[in-house]
Amino acid sequence: MILLIGISNILVIYFGGMRYINGEIKNIGIIAEFIIYINMLTWPVAVVGWVTSIVQQAEVSQGRINEFLKEEPSIQDIQKEETLIKGDIKFDNVTFTYEDTNITALKNVSFHIEKGETLAILGKTGSGKSTIAGLIARLYDVDEGAILIDHKPIQSLNLSSLRSSIGFVPQDAFLFSDTIKNNIKIGDEHASDSKIIQVAKEAYIHQNIKEFNNKYDTLVGERGVTLSGGQKQRISIARALISDPEILIFDDCLSAVDTHTEEIILNNLKAASKGKTTIIISHRTSSVKNADKIIVLDKGKIIQTGTHKTLISIDGYYKDIYNQQLEEKLISNE
Ligand code: ADP
Ligand code: MG
Repeated sequence: MILLIGISNILVIYFGGMRYINGEIKNIGIIAEFIIYINMLTWPVAVVGWVTSIVQQAEVSQGRINEFLKEEPSIQDIQKEETLIKGDIKFDNVTFTYEDTNITALKNVSFHIEKGETLAILGKTGSGKSTIAGLIARLYDVDEGAILIDHKPIQSLNLSSLRSSIGFVPQDAFLFSDTIKNNIKIGDEHASDSKIIQVAKEAYIHQNIKEFNNKYDTLVGERGVTLSGGQKQRISIARALISDPEILIFDDCLSAVDTHTEEIILNNLKAASKGKTTIIISHRTSSVKNADKIIVLDKGKIIQTGTHKTLISIDGYYKDIYNQQLEEKLISNE
């Protein structure tokens, strides 16, 4: 476009100039007038080109969005009616392979948690702990075996009922660039301020929040305060507690807090999770010792089950890491 306009300018000057020299034009001002006309045309002509290119870009973008919108979720929600979830969870010989990596994350895993019980899952990183949590929330469907919630196959339950009755604290706590209050309220939009404070106290973050200048209205993230990993985890716990879910899953969510704070939070949670099915995932024996049942995972298989008492009385992985972590604690106390 700019080239065309430049050429037009040159042509006007050339032919206008020639005619002036030949005496065909008497008034040289006419040439200047024509140049101004051409330059007045620049903008509208350039815009035509510009709009055409934007339309083309939009076409491509819309194409990509459509591709995404037309994508069918692999998790099918058959049950349209809402189901009431009580919180009995049973894994029956579950084997699960991640499709994209072909990693078999769980092999023949079976366990049963009754409503109101606390199950702890212990194991090294990569042993399949988070996979179990994801399967309970039905992020994936299992390949072999079955997951039964309230004695019914998980596929037969209404998906949104299932997910809204689970309070899930993920391993990597994610906070939005918003106020602390709104971040907690994601769990329940209509929560009252007193409820927010109650769950913050249970998650042992209330005291920290009170010390910020804007209290619960403090912005977090890029534009606000930067929270420590442990503080983020605790806000994320408060978020999970606020909707009073039937099932609570804490996926390694106390890894970034010290053992003393961990003890306080676990004690608070014991009260808050009364009557609720609770799953605590951790690699620390201090987090799991009060659970009704403990399962120890290794490379996707359950290698030990029992309670803290029974597991420390027999030789095995649990006893080993219990002693190891006890030693570490003694050293750090010295
Ligand atoms: P843990 O929580 O005990 O550290 P995970 O359940 O996250 O273990 O992972 C178990 C195995 O599954 C690991 O080998 C991991 O690499 C693999 N895995 C985990 N998540 C995914 C995923 N989304 N896609 C593919 N493979 C995964
Ligand atoms: Mg994990």
